[in-house]
Amino acid sequence: MRWLLRKCKRCGKYTLRQDRCPYCNGELVIPHPARFSPNDKYIKYRYMIKYEIKRKNEKT
Ligand SMILES: [Zn+2]
Repeated sequence: MRWLLRKCKRCGKYTLRQDRCPYCNGELVIPHPARFSPNDKYIKYRYMIKYEIKRKNEKT
């Protein structure tokens, strides 16, 4: 799920709107970094590949 919450730069209020603050029409920013960064995803895939190779080696 994508992080939909936005925070207004001007008044600091949170909103689900993506364009402009509904309270003061200020610019919106993403208040938190994504819960799962792309790096975590890569680490997971790398781990899976590693595990897969290990399993193959054990079979032979
Ligand atoms: Zn605002």
